Amino acid sequence: MEEVAKPIAKRERIGCARCGGRESREQFSVRGWPIVDCESCGLRFVNPRLPASQYEQVYGPEYFKSPDSLLCGYRDYGGERASVLRTFRRRFAWILKHARKPLVGGGFLDIGCAFGYALEVAIEEGMHAYGVDVSAHATNEAHGRGLRVDRGDTNTAARIVAKVGAMRLITSWDVIEHLPDPETHLRVLWNLLEPGGILSVITPDRSSLLARLFGTGWIEYQKPEEHIYFFRRDDLRALLDRTGFILAAESTAGKYVPLGFALERLAAYAKVFRVAKRLAWRVGAQTVYVDPLDKMHLLCRRP
Ligand SMILES: [Zn+2]
Repeated sequence: MEEVAKPIAKRERIGCARCGGRESREQFSVRGWPIVDCESCGLRFVNPRLPASQYEQVYGPEYFKSPDSLLCGYRDYGGERASVLRTFRRRFAWILKHARKPLVGGGFLDIGCAFGYALEVAIEEGMHAYGVDVSAHATNEAHGRGLRVDRGDTNTAARIVAKVGAMRLITSWDVIEHLPDPETHLRVLWNLLEPGGILSVITPDRSSLLARLFGTGWIEYQKPEEHIYFFRRDDLRALLDRTGFILAAESTAGKYVPLGFALERLAAYAKVFRVAKRLAWRVGAQTVYVDPLDKMHLLCRRP
Protein backbone atom coordinates (compact mmCIF):
# COMPACT_ATOMS: atom_id res chain seq x y z
CA MET A 1 0.00 0.00 0.00
CA GLU A 2 1.33 3.37 -0.93
CA GLU A 3 1.65 5.81 1.94
CA VAL A 4 0.41 9.32 1.42
CA ALA A 5 2.80 11.82 2.96
CA LYS A 6 1.16 13.79 5.77
CA PRO A 7 1.43 17.54 5.38
CA ILE A 8 3.83 18.97 7.92
CA ALA A 9 1.73 20.77 10.52
CA LYS A 10 2.49 24.42 10.92
CA ARG A 11 4.16 25.31 14.21
CA GLU A 12 3.83 28.53 16.14
CA ARG A 13 6.28 30.33 18.40
CA ILE A 14 4.84 31.25 21.80
CA GLY A 15 5.71 33.42 24.80
CA CYS A 16 6.24 32.20 28.36
CA ALA A 17 3.10 31.04 30.19
CA ARG A 18 4.57 32.01 33.58
CA CYS A 19 6.04 35.49 33.04
CA GLY A 20 4.99 36.47 29.50
CA GLY A 21 8.63 36.75 28.38
CA ARG A 22 9.19 36.44 24.63
CA GLU A 23 12.81 35.26 24.78
CA SER A 24 13.54 31.58 25.23
CA ARG A 25 16.59 29.45 24.56
CA GLU A 26 16.63 25.90 23.21
CA GLN A 27 18.07 23.38 25.72
CA PHE A 28 17.69 20.23 23.62
CA SER A 29 15.22 18.73 21.19
CA VAL A 30 13.23 15.48 21.12
CA ARG A 31 12.32 14.06 17.70
CA GLY A 32 12.50 17.50 16.16
CA TRP A 33 10.58 19.32 18.92
CA PRO A 34 12.72 22.08 20.49
CA ILE A 35 12.48 22.24 24.29
CA VAL A 36 13.30 25.72 25.57
CA ASP A 37 13.78 27.60 28.85
CA CYS A 38 12.30 31.07 29.30
CA GLU A 39 15.20 33.55 29.52
CA SER A 40 13.47 35.47 32.33
CA CYS A 41 11.88 32.90 34.65
CA GLY A 42 13.26 29.55 33.47
CA LEU A 43 9.93 27.87 32.66
CA ARG A 44 10.59 24.95 30.28
CA PHE A 45 8.27 24.23 27.36
CA VAL A 46 8.04 23.06 23.76
CA ASN A 47 8.61 26.01 21.42
CA PRO A 48 7.71 26.41 18.62
CA ARG A 49 4.80 24.00 18.87
CA LEU A 50 1.56 23.09 17.11
CA PRO A 51 -1.25 25.65 17.13
CA ALA A 52 -3.38 25.30 20.29
CA SER A 53 -6.37 23.83 18.39
CA GLN A 54 -4.38 20.80 17.24
CA TYR A 55 -3.63 19.39 20.68
CA GLU A 56 -7.10 17.85 21.05
CA GLN A 57 -6.57 15.52 18.12
CA VAL A 58 -3.99 13.37 19.89
CA TYR A 59 -6.41 11.62 22.25
CA GLY A 60 -8.29 9.08 20.12
CA PRO A 61 -8.95 5.38 20.90
CA GLU A 62 -5.28 4.45 20.36
CA TYR A 63 -4.28 6.76 23.21
CA PHE A 64 -5.80 4.43 25.82
CA LYS A 65 -4.49 1.22 24.30
CA SER A 66 -1.22 2.21 22.79
CA PRO A 67 1.13 -0.11 20.93
CA ASP A 68 3.99 1.90 22.39
CA SER A 69 3.13 3.47 25.73
CA LEU A 70 6.60 4.90 26.17
CA LEU A 71 6.05 7.16 23.17
CA CYS A 72 2.33 7.79 23.31
CA GLY A 73 -0.49 7.15 25.75
CA TYR A 74 -1.13 4.17 28.04
CA ARG A 75 -0.29 0.47 27.72
CA ASP A 76 -3.72 -0.93 28.56
CA TYR A 77 -5.64 1.53 30.70
CA GLY A 78 -8.80 -0.60 30.80
CA GLY A 79 -6.84 -3.67 31.89
CA GLU A 80 -5.16 -1.76 34.71
CA ARG A 81 -8.41 -0.68 36.37
CA ALA A 82 -7.80 -2.37 39.71
CA SER A 83 -4.40 -0.79 40.27
CA VAL A 84 -5.61 2.62 39.03
CA LEU A 85 -8.50 2.50 41.52
CA ARG A 86 -6.08 1.62 44.30
CA THR A 87 -3.85 4.54 43.32
CA PHE A 88 -6.78 6.94 43.31
CA ARG A 89 -8.04 5.74 46.70
CA ARG A 90 -4.60 6.48 48.14
CA ARG A 91 -4.65 9.97 46.61
CA PHE A 92 -8.14 10.62 47.98
CA ALA A 93 -7.02 9.55 51.45
CA TRP A 94 -4.25 12.15 51.30
CA ILE A 95 -6.63 14.84 50.02
CA LEU A 96 -9.17 14.04 52.78
CA LYS A 97 -6.42 14.42 55.38
CA HIS A 98 -5.71 17.98 54.21
CA ALA A 99 -9.18 19.19 53.22
CA ARG A 100 -10.57 21.46 55.93
CA LYS A 101 -14.17 20.61 55.28
CA PRO A 102 -15.88 17.27 54.74
CA LEU A 103 -16.12 16.24 51.11
CA VAL A 104 -19.12 13.95 51.56
CA GLY A 105 -22.22 15.37 49.89
CA GLY A 106 -20.16 17.83 47.82
CA GLY A 107 -19.62 18.02 44.08
CA PHE A 108 -16.60 16.36 42.53
CA LEU A 109 -15.23 17.08 39.07
CA ASP A 110 -12.37 15.29 37.35
CA ILE A 111 -10.79 17.13 34.44
CA GLY A 112 -9.31 14.69 31.95
CA CYS A 113 -11.23 11.85 33.62
CA ALA A 114 -10.36 9.18 31.01
CA PHE A 115 -12.48 6.11 31.89
CA GLY A 116 -13.86 7.78 35.03
CA TYR A 117 -11.98 5.81 37.67
CA ALA A 118 -11.55 8.87 39.92
CA LEU A 119 -15.34 9.35 39.79
CA GLU A 120 -15.80 5.83 41.13
CA VAL A 121 -13.60 6.64 44.11
CA ALA A 122 -15.37 9.98 44.72
CA ILE A 123 -18.71 8.15 44.71
CA GLU A 124 -17.30 5.73 47.31
CA GLU A 125 -16.54 8.85 49.40
CA GLY A 126 -20.16 10.01 49.12
CA MET A 127 -19.59 12.77 46.57
CA HIS A 128 -21.65 13.70 43.50
CA ALA A 129 -19.17 12.93 40.75
CA TYR A 130 -18.76 14.41 37.27
CA GLY A 131 -16.03 14.19 34.69
CA VAL A 132 -14.95 15.61 31.36
CA ASP A 133 -12.47 14.31 28.84
CA VAL A 134 -11.56 15.31 25.29
CA SER A 135 -11.57 11.68 24.19
CA ALA A 136 -14.90 10.35 22.88
CA HIS A 137 -13.56 6.82 23.27
CA ALA A 138 -12.87 7.41 26.98
CA THR A 139 -16.19 9.11 27.72
CA ASN A 140 -18.15 6.38 25.90
CA GLU A 141 -16.45 3.76 28.02
CA ALA A 142 -17.25 5.68 31.21
CA HIS A 143 -20.88 6.21 30.11
CA GLY A 144 -21.16 2.47 29.65
CA ARG A 145 -20.46 2.07 33.38
CA GLY A 146 -23.14 4.61 34.31
CA LEU A 147 -20.82 7.50 35.14
CA ARG A 148 -21.70 11.16 34.53
CA VAL A 149 -19.01 12.17 32.09
CA ASP A 150 -19.10 14.53 29.14
CA ARG A 151 -16.83 14.81 26.19
CA GLY A 152 -15.11 18.19 26.20
CA ASP A 153 -12.78 20.52 28.04
CA THR A 154 -13.07 23.08 30.83
CA ASN A 155 -15.82 24.91 28.88
CA THR A 156 -17.87 21.73 29.08
CA ALA A 157 -17.07 21.56 32.79
CA ALA A 158 -18.34 25.14 33.17
CA ARG A 159 -21.68 24.09 31.62
CA ILE A 160 -21.95 21.19 34.09
CA VAL A 161 -21.34 23.57 37.00
CA ALA A 162 -23.93 26.02 35.64
CA LYS A 163 -26.44 23.15 35.82
CA VAL A 164 -25.55 21.37 39.08
CA GLY A 165 -23.73 24.01 41.14
CA ALA A 166 -20.13 24.71 42.16
CA MET A 167 -17.74 21.90 43.04
CA ARG A 168 -16.16 21.09 46.39
CA LEU A 169 -13.26 19.17 44.89
CA ILE A 170 -11.73 19.31 41.43
CA THR A 171 -8.92 17.04 40.30
CA SER A 172 -6.67 17.91 37.37
CA TRP A 173 -4.31 14.95 37.23
CA ASP A 174 -1.69 14.64 34.50
CA VAL A 175 -3.53 17.26 32.47
CA ILE A 176 -1.94 20.71 32.83
CA GLU A 177 1.31 19.70 31.10
CA HIS A 178 -0.74 18.89 27.99
CA LEU A 179 -2.58 22.22 27.77
CA PRO A 180 -1.63 25.15 25.53
CA ASP A 181 -2.73 27.70 28.20
CA PRO A 182 -2.13 26.45 31.76
CA GLU A 183 -3.03 29.70 33.53
CA THR A 184 -6.43 29.95 31.86
CA HIS A 185 -7.01 26.33 32.89
CA LEU A 186 -6.43 27.23 36.55
CA ARG A 187 -8.59 30.37 36.33
CA VAL A 188 -11.51 28.43 34.90
CA LEU A 189 -11.19 25.78 37.62
CA TRP A 190 -11.10 28.51 40.30
CA ASN A 191 -14.45 29.72 38.99
CA LEU A 192 -15.95 26.23 39.14
CA LEU A 193 -15.15 25.74 42.84
CA GLU A 194 -17.36 26.75 45.75
CA PRO A 195 -15.69 29.05 48.31
CA GLY A 196 -13.38 26.86 50.38
CA GLY A 197 -13.33 24.31 47.55
CA ILE A 198 -10.22 22.28 46.85
CA LEU A 199 -8.17 21.85 43.69
CA SER A 200 -5.79 18.91 43.36
CA VAL A 201 -3.17 19.19 40.61
CA ILE A 202 -0.72 16.47 39.61
CA THR A 203 1.94 17.02 36.98
CA PRO A 204 5.50 15.84 36.30
CA ASP A 205 8.09 17.69 38.40
CA ARG A 206 11.10 18.86 36.46
CA SER A 207 12.81 19.98 39.69
CA SER A 208 12.70 16.40 41.07
CA LEU A 209 15.90 14.47 41.68
CA LEU A 210 14.99 11.83 39.09
CA ALA A 211 14.38 14.45 36.38
CA ARG A 212 17.74 16.03 37.12
CA LEU A 213 19.55 12.67 37.20
CA PHE A 214 18.11 11.53 33.87
CA GLY A 215 18.59 14.92 32.20
CA THR A 216 17.28 14.88 28.63
CA GLY A 217 16.55 11.14 29.04
CA TRP A 218 13.79 11.79 31.64
CA ILE A 219 10.71 9.87 30.51
CA GLU A 220 8.45 12.96 30.65
CA TYR A 221 10.47 14.64 27.89
CA GLN A 222 9.90 11.72 25.53
CA LYS A 223 6.37 12.73 24.47
CA PRO A 224 6.79 16.30 23.20
CA GLU A 225 3.66 15.96 21.05
CA GLU A 226 1.66 15.54 24.29
CA HIS A 227 3.64 17.09 27.12
CA ILE A 228 4.29 20.69 26.15
CA TYR A 229 5.16 22.17 29.58
CA PHE A 230 7.69 20.88 32.12
CA PHE A 231 6.98 22.62 35.42
CA ARG A 232 9.17 22.94 38.49
CA ARG A 233 7.30 23.08 41.77
CA ASP A 234 8.01 26.79 41.87
CA ASP A 235 6.47 27.36 38.42
CA LEU A 236 3.21 25.72 39.40
CA ARG A 237 3.10 27.46 42.80
CA ALA A 238 3.52 30.82 41.02
CA LEU A 239 0.67 30.12 38.59
CA LEU A 240 -1.64 28.90 41.39
CA ASP A 241 -0.79 31.92 43.52
CA ARG A 242 -1.50 34.35 40.69
CA THR A 243 -4.84 32.68 40.09
CA GLY A 244 -5.82 33.32 43.72
CA PHE A 245 -5.39 29.83 45.15
CA ILE A 246 -3.95 29.22 48.62
CA LEU A 247 -1.56 26.29 48.78
CA ALA A 248 -2.78 23.77 51.37
CA ALA A 249 -0.40 20.81 51.00
CA GLU A 250 2.28 19.39 48.74
CA SER A 251 3.31 15.85 48.03
CA THR A 252 4.38 13.51 45.26
CA ALA A 253 2.15 11.15 43.27
CA GLY A 254 3.18 7.55 42.78
CA LYS A 255 1.00 4.73 41.54
CA TYR A 256 0.18 1.09 42.09
CA VAL A 257 1.25 -1.09 39.22
CA PRO A 258 0.81 -4.82 38.67
CA LEU A 259 3.95 -6.55 39.92
CA GLY A 260 4.44 -8.21 36.53
CA PHE A 261 4.29 -4.82 34.81
CA ALA A 262 6.81 -3.27 37.22
CA LEU A 263 9.21 -6.15 36.66
CA GLU A 264 8.70 -5.96 32.90
CA ARG A 265 9.82 -2.34 32.97
CA LEU A 266 12.79 -3.18 35.19
CA ALA A 267 13.67 -6.20 33.05
CA ALA A 268 14.31 -3.80 30.22
CA TYR A 269 17.13 -2.36 32.36
CA ALA A 270 18.68 -5.31 34.17
CA LYS A 271 18.97 -9.05 33.62
CA VAL A 272 18.35 -9.98 37.25
CA PHE A 273 14.75 -8.77 36.97
CA ARG A 274 14.05 -11.09 34.02
CA VAL A 275 14.15 -14.04 36.38
CA ALA A 276 11.93 -12.20 38.85
CA LYS A 277 9.52 -11.37 36.03
CA ARG A 278 9.01 -15.07 35.25
CA LEU A 279 8.28 -15.70 38.93
CA ALA A 280 5.85 -12.80 38.99
CA TRP A 281 3.34 -14.59 36.74
CA ARG A 282 2.94 -17.13 39.56
CA VAL A 283 2.09 -14.53 42.21
CA GLY A 284 -0.92 -13.44 40.14
CA ALA A 285 -2.44 -9.96 40.25
CA GLN A 286 -0.28 -8.47 43.00
CA THR A 287 0.31 -4.73 42.84
CA VAL A 288 3.15 -2.66 44.24
CA TYR A 289 3.24 1.06 45.01
CA VAL A 290 5.90 2.79 42.94
CA ASP A 291 6.82 6.42 43.57
CA PRO A 292 9.89 7.71 41.77
CA LEU A 293 9.07 11.14 43.35
CA ASP A 294 9.09 12.84 39.94
CA LYS A 295 5.43 13.85 39.94
CA MET A 296 4.20 16.66 42.18
CA HIS A 297 0.79 16.74 43.83
CA LEU A 298 -0.26 20.25 44.85
CA LEU A 299 -3.42 20.75 46.85
CA CYS A 300 -4.84 24.26 47.04
CA ARG A 301 -7.92 26.04 48.23
CA ARG A 302 -10.14 28.71 46.75
CA PRO A 303 -10.56 31.22 49.60
ZN1 LIG B 1 9.11 33.15 31.84
